[in-house]
Amino acid sequence: MYIFKQVNHLQGFLTPIMVNQESIGFVPTMGALHEGHLGLIESAANKCDWVVCSIFINPTQFNDPTDLLKYPRTPEKDIDALINQKCDILFFPDTNTIYPPNQKKIFDFNFNGLENRLEGAFRPGHFQGVAEVVHRLLSIVRPHSLFMGQKDYQQVQIVKKMIDQSDLDLQLHTVPTVRNSKGLALSSRNRRLSEQSQNDALIIFESLSWVKENIHSKAIPALKEEAIQRMISKGFKVDYFEVVDPQDMLPISEVDGPAVACTAAWIEGVRLIDNMLI
Ligand code: AMP
Repeated sequence: MYIFKQVNHLQGFLTPIMVNQESIGFVPTMGALHEGHLGLIESAANKCDWVVCSIFINPTQFNDPTDLLKYPRTPEKDIDALINQKCDILFFPDTNTIYPPNQKKIFDFNFNGLENRLEGAFRPGHFQGVAEVVHRLLSIVRPHSLFMGQKDYQQVQIVKKMIDQSDLDLQLHTVPTVRNSKGLALSSRNRRLSEQSQNDALIIFESLSWVKENIHSKAIPALKEEAIQRMISKGFKVDYFEVVDPQDMLPISEVDGPAVACTAAWIEGVRLIDNMLI
């Protein structure tokens, strides 16, 4: 695997690949890689000639400085995992490379309020930070395809809107959430949970599944309330549990087409998110 820290070195390597019209798939991550990330690398490898993964912990998407400090960093392990997964290229920039001092924000994207709903309501500025960093990374890597996880469903909708408003020409692929054998969505944050809480956290998947199964037999407010109570009974503090429209992510009161159940909740000081298509 080739590892680049500098933009000009990475671009020097990628230019002949582009000239040869070979396809480039890109998987942006913040490291602490797990099977969920590796699934994205695999999807990219299945569709593209070359796979570029980036590891960059983006400070602008953390509204809570403690969360940024506590974010797990495991670079050696990540490099081994990427080599095993046959990733071709790792882009591993530092903060000044992505945010050169004196360079202003590129532009403000218009998300029509999506950035303030659900995750956005609890993490002010988070999605502007996500859009900004993904835009900067895409402008550097210039891939043909971008691979992102359904685990961060709202993030995918935000990035779709950002791409539509930019001059970037690429395809966005959403890869299904990878879960452990019991259903817990894999997340870099899971490693901060005790074994007990990892078990208790299964209630997230169970509640989402229960809402999906009962979506036509009970009213959404009742489903939502019961799901929240189930999570609270396992010790969670629930930020939100909503059934929403898949595009604008506004809560819906009746399901007559596709919908998504989304939740975010805290246990042991760790915030977990998950969702399920209905
Ligand atoms: P992160 O490193 O958390 O920023 O995630 C990098 C990419 O991996 C994002 O597109 C995430 O949605 C995706 N991802 C994280 N966890 C999972 C998972 N359990 N299954 C699928 N994709 C995931």
